[in-house]
Amino acid sequence: MTLYICFWLAVFGGCIGSFLNVVIYRLPRRSFLSKARSFCPSCGATLRWRDLIPVVSWLMLRGRCRVCRAKISPRYPLTELFCAALAPLCFLRFGFSWMALITFGVVTVLMAVTQIDFATMEIPNGLVAALVPFAAGAVWAVPGVPLWERLAGFFAVSLPMLLLALAVNGAFGGGDIKLMAVCGFLLGYKMTLLGFFIALLAGGGAAVFLLLTKRKTRGASIPFGPALCLGVAAALFFGGELLSLYMRLYR
Ligand SMILES: [Zn+2]
Repeated sequence: MTLYICFWLAVFGGCIGSFLNVVIYRLPRRSFLSKARSFCPSCGATLRWRDLIPVVSWLMLRGRCRVCRAKISPRYPLTELFCAALAPLCFLRFGFSWMALITFGVVTVLMAVTQIDFATMEIPNGLVAALVPFAAGAVWAVPGVPLWERLAGFFAVSLPMLLLALAVNGAFGGGDIKLMAVCGFLLGYKMTLLGFFIALLAGGGAAVFLLLTKRKTRGASIPFGPALCLGVAAALFFGGELLSLYMRLYR
């Protein structure tokens, strides 16, 4: 029975992933609300329904456009695969609960933030706004965190980031700050600090790696948003365990 539910959740997740690809492609190009059907970015051919089945279509077409044979980036099926795995994982972790739905929704949006931030070095306001209903819903759906802890979470990371951005021009983007405000309210201050700590480790590690392998030179800008997204997602999924592990180590 669990397997059956997981299968359909994966199908559902794959469809959401397919929609997410459209968001990731269109949002930075400001053509999100256009009614145009999905098309090949190379030759402009309109995609038919059988080109739009998550993951399956890409495999059937062997990663090329049906009309012009241009390569289709594996980023598209990988995004769909990510969401197809995420939906059953949320269910297995949190059961049939609001927490599962909120986690799925938030991590999906964070996936879009990550890809757009990598591509454009900017986090669209629309995506931060898309997190607000989940953060507001968490107030009654996840009652373990008192409201004052959420309000503290709203400022815990965003305020220091804001002050640092004002002191050192370009230290953080406005998108990073708004993202951590909304996610801070969602998580409460404890998990927010934990998530930010993970983000610093991941972002710092990635920066050192890029510098050592000379893929980036000193002074080149590296987006911090993806690291923040990773930290928030990790805190959502494993926050409780990580925090109690930490408590046990230092008592
Ligand atoms: Zn084409």
